[in-house]
Amino acid sequence: MEKVIDITVAPERINDYGYIKKIALEKAGLPNGRIKILKRSVDARHKPVYRIKAAIYTGKLPEPEPPAVFKNTEDAKPVFIAGAGPAGLFAALQLLILGVKPVIFERGKDVDSRKKDIKDLELSNSLKADSNYCFGEGGAGAFSDGKLYTRAVKRGSPRQVLDLLVKHGASPEILIDSRPHIGSDALPEVIKSIRKTIIGHGGEINFNSYISSLTVKEEKLVSVTINEKEKIPCSALILATGHSAASTYRMLHNQGITLESKPFAVGVRVEHRQQVIDSIQYGSSPRPEGLPPASYVLKSSFKGRGVYSFCMCPGGMIIPSSTSERELVLNGMSPSGRNLPFANAAIVTQVSAEDFGNGVFAGLEFREKLESDAFNITESLTAPAQRLADFVNGKKSETLPESSYPPGITSFPLAELFPGYVTQALIKGFKDFSSKMKGFLTQEAVLLAPETRTSSPVRIPRNKTTLMHPVAEGLFPCGEGAGYSGGILSSALDGIKCALAAQAFIQ
Ligand SMILES: Cc1cc2nc3c(=O)[nH]c(=O)nc-3n(C[C@H](O)[C@H](O)[C@H](O)COP(=O)(O)OP(=O)(O)OC[C@H]3O[C@@H](n4cnc5c(N)ncnc54)[C@H](O)[C@@H]3O)c2cc1C
Repeated sequence: MEKVIDITVAPERINDYGYIKKIALEKAGLPNGRIKILKRSVDARHKPVYRIKAAIYTGKLPEPEPPAVFKNTEDAKPVFIAGAGPAGLFAALQLLILGVKPVIFERGKDVDSRKKDIKDLELSNSLKADSNYCFGEGGAGAFSDGKLYTRAVKRGSPRQVLDLLVKHGASPEILIDSRPHIGSDALPEVIKSIRKTIIGHGGEINFNSYISSLTVKEEKLVSVTINEKEKIPCSALILATGHSAASTYRMLHNQGITLESKPFAVGVRVEHRQQVIDSIQYGSSPRPEGLPPASYVLKSSFKGRGVYSFCMCPGGMIIPSSTSERELVLNGMSPSGRNLPFANAAIVTQVSAEDFGNGVFAGLEFREKLESDAFNITESLTAPAQRLADFVNGKKSETLPESSYPPGITSFPLAELFPGYVTQALIKGFKDFSSKMKGFLTQEAVLLAPETRTSSPVRIPRNKTTLMHPVAEGLFPCGEGAGYSGGILSSALDGIKCALAAQAFIQ
């Protein structure tokens, strides 16, 4: 027999399995049984508690779901994949399950070599165009907070992705946490384990391999060119190159592959001391034992324009995620323990063709201008910054608080960087947020700019059923760069979906 119940557990007892079992059985009115925790979340609305959904079994335990079985694909038909981000890697895993050989071309380096390039970037401003926070094995998600939630459940089964991550070394806690995350220190090991599975089952991963052009004849994909040199016949390509791949968008456009402009969002990274966020959310600092560093999700609007928090990183740091020389792009990440002293989040507002005009690349050019204007302020990766209350009150900051951002910050009135409607929307948002989180709008918090890569400014169209591009049979636009996902989990789900479509096509 199985009974599902909801219980509440005090934070300090969250790791006490015996206690949780006892109160679960009491609540179910059962003298004994085995319990399995299905979901776990923090409820900080009153006195912070954990809410747990648990299944109680009095008889035989149900059989576990059979694990994914990867076939040996050494001699199988290939499907090519451009990009080894979450979309590309999960497309490859799904192809192995289907018995199709994944052949990945990734412009960047393996995840360990990337670590060194990222250190150089942070310490000496030296950016490598093919190896940075966005490009290389693991894609943009490799050195991130590794948050793993999505509202896009229609795209497939998030559980399938979580199971595959656990199979490759992620903590099983991601299966029960309502807001799971892996962390920038743990992600590279998971990515290397995925690589091992792909290669071990006959797949290929080619690093330093940039898809520089495609050949389409009579509306059919016939070949891809690698690094402007090697032309390889190809009838099926999952194009999962991410939303930082500006040169890839331009290459597609020049080759007659139609693209569309789409709305996206821009703004700032706000950074507080983690203890400020803990104290606002939990009512005490230091936070009560057993509770994770607090996070937040905020939203508001200004004249029909959404303003919201995005990619909040508790106990994390702000990082430079530029991909080209002379551009400044910020993002955030946290280690698995979320144990750094700062909490940061993007606070962004929507921008659309009404703001940047029509034209396929109008949004991309708007993004590029903002990123290069920000770089030009200091001619370096040092970020323009302003105290939060000064920004809201229109005052230049005379001094700045400490920040986690490794290349450093410099005082700059951020209203001079953004169009007026972005500044006004952000100010309205911050005022609204402060009424939801008392103490959020403070001089002690600092804004760094710009945050520009929340989602893609371009969509690569695809047929709803076949998932192929309308004028290039065999080309499967995939993941965040094609405009079909946002974040690690939804990109992985889209990769799986494209793999299924590609297998149906090549059969
Ligand atoms: C610092 C940071 C932190 C983040 N934190 C989170 C988080 O906590 N949770 C979350 O859900 N999301 C997070 N994101 C966003 C998330 O990483 C992306 O949504 C996700 O990685 C998109 O997956 P993708 O596979 O579609 O593209 P990407 O991950 O961008 O991967 C694309 C890959 O394609 C390669 N490529 C590009 N052009 C070519 C070409 N022409 N030929 C060959 N290869 C090419 C690139 O090198 C790259 O490796 C974060 C992003 C960053 C940068």
